Amino acid sequence: MEQSPVDWFTNVAPSVVHTQSLVDVVNDGYRWRKYGQKSVKGSPYPRSYYRCSSSGCAVNKHVERSSRDAKLLITTYKGKHDHDMPPGRTFAHKKTLNLEIDEVKNK
Ligand SMILES: [Zn+2]
Repeated sequence: MEQSPVDWFTNVAPSVVHTQSLVDVVNDGYRWRKYGQKSVKGSPYPRSYYRCSSSGCAVNKHVERSSRDAKLLITTYKGKHDHDMPPGRTFAHKKTLNLEIDEVKNK
């Protein structure tokens, strides 16, 4: 499989995705199991911790709501999935999410 240096970088570094959403669960194509919740200093919204529900996969993410904009969810991913996306679900591809970020910024 060919990978550009840019893809390689985004796969190893924690990536942060901003999504405008009123619900705390963002469908990113993978299945997640919530394992913790922590209050965030200076924010009325807690941060939720998830890990990939695929056995053996070490990917984690945490999701928090922006204290400045209640409609903005900030998702931070750590790690790289060692498996394919589970089939049978619609998902927003990373590139689509990045486009959404740009739209948010331009508003
Ligand atoms: Zn995974």
